[in-house]
Amino acid sequence: MNNPAARENRPRHSDLVLQAKNIKKNFNGTEVLKGVSFEAKRGDVIVIIGSSGSGKSTFLRCLNFLELPESGEISLWGEKITLNQKETTGKSISNKRLRHLRSKIGTVFQSFNLWSHMTILENLTQAPIFVHGKSKSEAKKSARKYLKKVGIPDKEDNYPSELSGGQQQRAAIARALCIEPEILLFDEPTSALDPELVGEVLRVIKLLAEEGRTMIITTHEMAFARDVSSWTMFFENGIILEEGPPEKLFSSPNTARLKNFIK
Ligand code: ADP
Ligand code: MG
Repeated sequence: MNNPAARENRPRHSDLVLQAKNIKKNFNGTEVLKGVSFEAKRGDVIVIIGSSGSGKSTFLRCLNFLELPESGEISLWGEKITLNQKETTGKSISNKRLRHLRSKIGTVFQSFNLWSHMTILENLTQAPIFVHGKSKSEAKKSARKYLKKVGIPDKEDNYPSELSGGQQQRAAIARALCIEPEILLFDEPTSALDPELVGEVLRVIKLLAEEGRTMIITTHEMAFARDVSSWTMFFENGIILEEGPPEKLFSSPNTARLKNFIK
């Protein structure tokens, strides 16, 4: 799967999409993120690797405003986003500004999070219709376009339980695409899958990378990380211990910790 040529051929841009500066997050007095900074330009595919508990998911949750950092700054397109505690933890759904910000960022979780009592098409059209005010026909049209893109155009009338795990995760990716996000976050998108289903999901993510989408991905799939990322960050204990272009990071890691991790 390692094909640096595909990565090199992707369009590169200089415009900054997402930036985080010195993000710190505590849970019950324990500092889980100890000052994480990074930036993503349009078309960047940033992959975060690191052992379980190193803070990867918490960092992604700060980026889509599901968690409020104790300190630090998050900027979208150069505009600093300031949110108060009530906005992130209170009545977030009714908060117009938060809804607007979140509509720019699509998230795909490890556990798919599809609604089991709704068909795939209904799952994909809920947010566009009820949150973003699209017409039903528009929402269906776009849902079908993205189901086709992820390779399951024939599953729209099925319920999630009628799909394999890989198909469910591809449906969840299509659902994220339906809000027309400008950034996609993936939190261990293949960790809940049987090994034989991992490839079909990674292929879809790779396709999105090749389209030039801006993505931040956490994964334990090292070959995929090396193949797809434009920049790789190794998290350890709430900090970025090492980062760099994947060819550098994976072939000549600086720290014993990373050497050991990718072995
Ligand atoms: P990773 O995704 O790298 O496995 P996480 O970001 O999930 O790491 O977790 C980092 C640390 O923060 C872990 O020690 C975890 O137990 C803790 N943590 C994460 N979320 C919460 C929470 N909501 N409340 C308390 N502790 C949390
Ligand atoms: Mg995690």
